[in-house]
Amino acid sequence: MRGFRFALIRAARSRSRAELQTAQRRRPSDLAQRFAHSAAAPARPSFGIAFDVDGVILRGRSPIGGAPRAIRRLYSEDGTLKIPFLFLTNGGGVPEHRRALELSQLLGVNISPTQVVHGHSPYRELVDRFEDDLIVAVGKGEPAVVMSEYGFRNVLSIDEYASYFKDIDPLAPFKTWKVGQTDSYMSAKVHPSYDVYSERVKGVFVVSDPVDWGRDLQVLFDILSTGGLPGSGKGDQPPLYFAADDLEYQAAFPSERLGMGAFRIALESIFNQINDHPLKYTSYGKPNPFVFKNAANILEKLVMSMYPNSQTSKEVKDCQFSTIYMVGDNPRVDINGASKAGHPWSSVLTRTGVFRGKDNDPQFPADTVVDTVEDAINYILEKECIC
Ligand SMILES: [Mg+2]
Repeated sequence: MRGFRFALIRAARSRSRAELQTAQRRRPSDLAQRFAHSAAAPARPSFGIAFDVDGVILRGRSPIGGAPRAIRRLYSEDGTLKIPFLFLTNGGGVPEHRRALELSQLLGVNISPTQVVHGHSPYRELVDRFEDDLIVAVGKGEPAVVMSEYGFRNVLSIDEYASYFKDIDPLAPFKTWKVGQTDSYMSAKVHPSYDVYSERVKGVFVVSDPVDWGRDLQVLFDILSTGGLPGSGKGDQPPLYFAADDLEYQAAFPSERLGMGAFRIALESIFNQINDHPLKYTSYGKPNPFVFKNAANILEKLVMSMYPNSQTSKEVKDCQFSTIYMVGDNPRVDINGASKAGHPWSSVLTRTGVFRGKDNDPQFPADTVVDTVEDAINYILEKECIC
């Protein structure tokens, strides 16, 4: 049984690596091929678009608001990209190349991994800081795989890390479900001999929404209060990162669900009640202006890949976006973020998710309010004189 399990792990690992390699191999040439314009193509678009996903493009796993038809308008008839766009979501939990594949299937177009920016995508910039340190990755999906693919070498998912400490979760005997087996066993295979009983956790990364809040609050409280070694005395808090800070988000259920920001408040509140110093943490994701700056840079690179000819590339490079549209459903996150980011960002608020108001949001008003993502794309293309 154990052998069979490891065979499954090996298969999943090699599949994951193969997908990544294929995506990486494909990147420059494939992008150029898929996004290439002919010599007679018009000048580069002076605008780009960033779409939120949950509550705009999808609800759960179902496309909404005419998304497939509307997104197809951003491509030429031969399937090459016509208008530079990306998905800028606070969600995640799987590697970007896998999400690109899923979105391609759901929307019926070719989405490149470059066009997917998750809340946790900026974590890859922190690899050098942690080098060989032991870190713990938290959240739904495959948080340890995401971090390993970014280049972190010693990553354990919280499922696996908790499993090494007997009785760390006193309520475990009452839980009849099992969580995260694939990810935890995959991590075990990658790091089979890590000694969690003497090595301290040097960093905690909340990659996606935590699954077992009760256990995760307990285990993270232990790690953060003891200097990274549950069961030992008090110690300095290791760095803590959240991929996003959404209090609520729109999923398949009719009303909003509690997000990573709600989990952060719970953890912070408990930590600050018990310890005599406040919890320290860094949150990424929208509405952080850094995320919008990063998205603008990615859109610029995307435009360059649409024009592989070197002379054209120079002309393209010398030209900047006059407008980047943020299409989102959450005023606090999407609209607030775009407005804090300033020029060239312009916000378009849809009524298919968190926001359902008749007029504009009173606290974080958008530049434009529409019903659906299809209305948003119609509005943008009309404004930019592209029919
Ligand atoms: Mg949303």
